[in-house]
Amino acid sequence: MNKEIETGAGNKLLSLVVPCYNEEEVIDETMRRLRLFCSELQNLDVELIFVDDGSRDSTRELLKNYAAQDTRIRIIGFARNFGHQVAVTAGIDAANGDAVVLIDADLQDPPEVVHQMVAKWREGFDVVYGTRTERPGESAFKLATARGFYRLLNKLSDVPIPLDTGDFRLMSRPVVDTLCAMPERDRFVRGMVSWVGFKQTALPYRRAERFAGESKYPLRKMLRFATDGIISFSTKPLQLSVGMGMISAALALAGIAYALALRIFTNMWVEGWTALMIAVLFIGGVQLISIGILGEYIGRIYNEIKKRPLYVVQEYIGFANEGPAMSR
Ligand code: UDP
Ligand code: MG
Repeated sequence: MNKEIETGAGNKLLSLVVPCYNEEEVIDETMRRLRLFCSELQNLDVELIFVDDGSRDSTRELLKNYAAQDTRIRIIGFARNFGHQVAVTAGIDAANGDAVVLIDADLQDPPEVVHQMVAKWREGFDVVYGTRTERPGESAFKLATARGFYRLLNKLSDVPIPLDTGDFRLMSRPVVDTLCAMPERDRFVRGMVSWVGFKQTALPYRRAERFAGESKYPLRKMLRFATDGIISFSTKPLQLSVGMGMISAALALAGIAYALALRIFTNMWVEGWTALMIAVLFIGGVQLISIGILGEYIGRIYNEIKKRPLYVVQEYIGFANEGPAMSR
């Protein structure tokens, strides 16, 4: 434990929020690197908030062992897996720092880069987000889809959301307070931070490979995440379905005129079967897509009005009192 850090009385506090889901293979190394990082910090106190997102392996026990030896370590233990974005939200809710840093547990976001974030914060920036210049060790599929996603999202969203930027970032207290006051259930954190505004800047960094284990974001979760991002930051898909409706209606009108003309002016009208099938299938397809888009929005409205807690905490460890409120 680093005594130096504990003694600084008038120091500002930096909170590091680390979401962990089945990360037993990386915890030791992550802890080593984070502590090394803390020992290099000057004039700053640190709290390390690990959010255990309902891991089924020994992640929580490992974290508890560390927390028992180090008063800077706090644990928020979820009652089940609520997902990365919710875990990050819980960490932000519980953080006491003058600045809060979001960082993955798998060391893909190098802790050393946080020094540069802190320097920018001291220069007066409220949000310093890490932009990935390189992403070694990711599949070509993930790279291509991520690239496409950020560009599509930016086209659709009303607030500009930085390209190739994950949740690795530093946020000042005013930004964190605003985030805590945002009640929505669909948390697309990187978009919400852009929405908040204040003075934001990018910090290019080289994203490392995962230290050990495998990605906790399978394709299914990634698709869910991408849909959440687009739907919570844009109503353009609804406009798109109106557009598709218009086009198919126009085509249908032309088809009707054609069918009527054949029926009235010729005697080959039985032969319209192919055109008929195409029209029916096409309009059916457009209708289903449009209903699906509507459904995505309505489902989210339903989620919001249920007003369930965003997450359920089984235990808070290392917080001054028993911890913050149980839900938000
Ligand atoms: N994570 C989480 N809950 C989940 C999935 C992931 O807390 O349901 C954490 C995970 O432990 C890691 C971070 O979110 O610290 C990013 O996940 P991962 O590295 O698997 O995603 P990738 O980097 O492959 O996109
Ligand atoms: Mg990762």
